[in-house]
Amino acid sequence: MSAGYVYYFGGGEADGGKEDKQLLGGKGANLAEMTRIGVPVPPGFTLSTDVCREYMRHERLPEGLDAEVARSLSRLEKEKGKGFGDPDRPLLLSVRSGAAISMPGMMDTILNLGLNEETVEGLAREAEDRRFAFDSYRRFVQMYGDVVLRIEHADFEKILSGKKSETGARYDMDLDADALEDVVKQYKKLVLDETGQPFPDDPQAQLWGAIEAVFASWNNQRARDYRRVHRIDQNLGTGVNVMAMVYGNMGENSATGVAFTRHPGTGENRFFGEFLINAQGEDVVAGIRDPLPIDELKEQLPEAYKELMEVQQKLENHYTDMQDLEFTVERGRLFLLQTRRGKRTMAAAVKIAVDMVDEGLIDERTAVLRIDPMQLDQLLHPRLDPKAEVEMLAKGLPASPGAASGQVVFQAEEAERRAADGVDVILVREETSPDDFSGMVAARGILTSRGGMTSHAAVVARGMGKPCVVGASDLDVDLVGKTFQVGDLTVNEGDWLTIDGTGGRVLQGKVPTVEPEMSDEFRRLMEWADARRRLKVRTNADTPNDASKAREFGAEGIGLCRTEHMFFEGERIWPVREMILAEDEAARRRALEKLRPIQREDFEGIFRAMDGYPVTIRLLDPPLHEFLPRGEEEIHNLAERLDVDLDHVRASLEKHRESNPMLGHRGVRLGMSHPEITEMQARAMFQAAVNVSKAGVKVRPEVMVPLVADVAELKRQEKLIRTTAQKVFEESGVEIPFLVGTMIELPRACLTAGDIAGVAEFFSFGTNDLTQTTFGISRDDAGTFLPLYVTDQILADDPFQVLDEPGVGRLVKLATQEGRAARPDLKVGICGEHGGEPQSVTFFHKAGLDYVSCSPFRVPVARLAAAHAALAEEPEPAQTRHEAERVPVEA
Ligand code: PEP
Ligand code: MG
Repeated sequence: MSAGYVYYFGGGEADGGKEDKQLLGGKGANLAEMTRIGVPVPPGFTLSTDVCREYMRHERLPEGLDAEVARSLSRLEKEKGKGFGDPDRPLLLSVRSGAAISMPGMMDTILNLGLNEETVEGLAREAEDRRFAFDSYRRFVQMYGDVVLRIEHADFEKILSGKKSETGARYDMDLDADALEDVVKQYKKLVLDETGQPFPDDPQAQLWGAIEAVFASWNNQRARDYRRVHRIDQNLGTGVNVMAMVYGNMGENSATGVAFTRHPGTGENRFFGEFLINAQGEDVVAGIRDPLPIDELKEQLPEAYKELMEVQQKLENHYTDMQDLEFTVERGRLFLLQTRRGKRTMAAAVKIAVDMVDEGLIDERTAVLRIDPMQLDQLLHPRLDPKAEVEMLAKGLPASPGAASGQVVFQAEEAERRAADGVDVILVREETSPDDFSGMVAARGILTSRGGMTSHAAVVARGMGKPCVVGASDLDVDLVGKTFQVGDLTVNEGDWLTIDGTGGRVLQGKVPTVEPEMSDEFRRLMEWADARRRLKVRTNADTPNDASKAREFGAEGIGLCRTEHMFFEGERIWPVREMILAEDEAARRRALEKLRPIQREDFEGIFRAMDGYPVTIRLLDPPLHEFLPRGEEEIHNLAERLDVDLDHVRASLEKHRESNPMLGHRGVRLGMSHPEITEMQARAMFQAAVNVSKAGVKVRPEVMVPLVADVAELKRQEKLIRTTAQKVFEESGVEIPFLVGTMIELPRACLTAGDIAGVAEFFSFGTNDLTQTTFGISRDDAGTFLPLYVTDQILADDPFQVLDEPGVGRLVKLATQEGRAARPDLKVGICGEHGGEPQSVTFFHKAGLDYVSCSPFRVPVARLAAAHAALAEEPEPAQTRHEAERVPVEA
């Protein structure tokens, strides 16, 4: 093991291994590992991520690095029997970045380094192929010019296409040696014109230029953006891998390709990949020529194919995970250039994990830990409604599953702009490049007219879990005119389009979608997760429908039923308005009596859906003015319909106007001033409980009082609730056990939790309001300034999404401890938005809560996150068969 900056691999030995990801980057660590286990890898060396961090700190490369590089380079020369810069037997190098967590396409690669006017002739003689030598040279000058010298890629392309039309060549491959030699000359002239300096011919100068450029690319904007979106530490740093070149462009018995050991879209256990004959490096990923499916390699290069099959199996068994490989065949000889954990859709991730347990490769615990809760909701993506009538415009490759509709846009910036206005967009391109990344983030789906299943668009979209169709070659995309043509039809920017990433279809207009179903593998994985978690997971649901959906997702009860939603729907708003406008208590009670049977029916539906599970019903929470109309016309309507004086309506509106409604007359304060509302709701609830219980349903109601600041408020409401319950039970002759508790959503409630627990049988943290009142930031107005706090890292996360542990979290812990000290069997849960956010769920687990409650779709996310939190506390057992690699969660 090297103790310095440079780590060698070659000749079956390596200075590092797969455990050195942090130090060598993923690519470097795996090149070393493959070398060690006897997989054919071109020899080379890795400059560690320490160098990158030093480079960021001091803006220059560290001292002593040059000597270490020189030592490794001469070892490499010896191993290859070639010389770097030797005109007869030139050693040529590739220079690639590689961080601990892969960031596909974010940083740069330079191939064929070491070529100049002399060595190119040596390469031509050695390969006995002059065209090949100049093709390599041409690529090198172009890549180096682009990456190191920062000359526009398009300027080089212009020269190349100029040459093609001049000679009548259709593809790059059709250009002969002389033509390519001339292209190189023109490239070099471009470099001189643009930079005022000749293109560097000294291989040493080339090498150091490339190394520095790779380290510098760690901090380019697109890489920073990628890390921000994927929450990757900006200080991780990249390694630089310098390897002896091997050539996939040495004629018809050479090839280059990428492959996955299992299908990255479905998880099917089948070797899957694409390749190009006589091509180099990035040609496959760039999606410029259409690659061939891997099965055809068997026909074209059978020996290499056989070896590749063996190697892929060996790698998968060794890593015990699905691998993403890059390979090159040089004149029939196979070389692996990279192996890494393959990115996959969530559906594939689940299938692969479960299959690998069945195959004895990993244990259940490892399978559970391999699924990222954050991304689980990908599985719950909508798909096209099979009953919908669709107009298919074109077919492409199903690059990333799910269906999405949106307005067509052609530029990343336009995608961002429209998305910021809340418009759904589909980003349409010929192919995507890393520059389109932010637009892909903003879009609902991505569509390209070129490229294969491993093109940039496909890989990135799968990583993000966005529907994507690539290679829809019937589309004639005009990026400048912002339109595309398909057959006779012209589609313009802003037109609606639907893509079906599961079927690879491009559809006209906006097609309706349906919710997904869960696979058997998913159910099994979730069972393994459930067996390992301690936290219970409930749902926030206000309708019988949502409650049933949540049961399917595995919810173990309702943690929050917001009864106000029952007040808003359809005709129900009218008795509510009548109640608000009532002149006295008697009139108010009359209006409430109209509401009661409706509420009761809703509760009955919910109790039935949650048979046997607890249901927490919260008393009315929002300020009453939310139920009143705003516009003039609506106010007139109201006066007419309820037959009240217009002035009275206006006076009432005025009376209910508040300058700070979130801190105003809401929550328990409504029940304090209008006890008849509490009474009506309690009566409806207990009558519903009695009714369904008579029908054999097991009901466990929990009545919850919102926004309590002092125990005295709760005491008064509790008395009202219990008296009402008693009356209903006496009337019906049925008694139902129930709990009365409170939301804890104000700092004062946390600070006096001991007193409150004297009355409350349960606490449920309303972390939405608790965040609002702890920060003093209005939930409704945060949008104008809070994003800036996150971008500028004033706050690590938006505290309304990810629980603020030092502030709000501390209050949660304090209230839990003091509440339990006063009442040891106090049930404690949380029902704010944070209940379905994995990082926050981990916190609630550690804080010792009994349950979290979240929206139905996030129930599986919370179940898995709760399992991860519990497993993180267990000591790691020995693996079943192989040591499982704990991978940091990738994009
Ligand atoms: C909360 O405040 O966290 C909560 C769940 O209640 P609401 O969002 O309805 O205010
Ligand atoms: Mg609240």
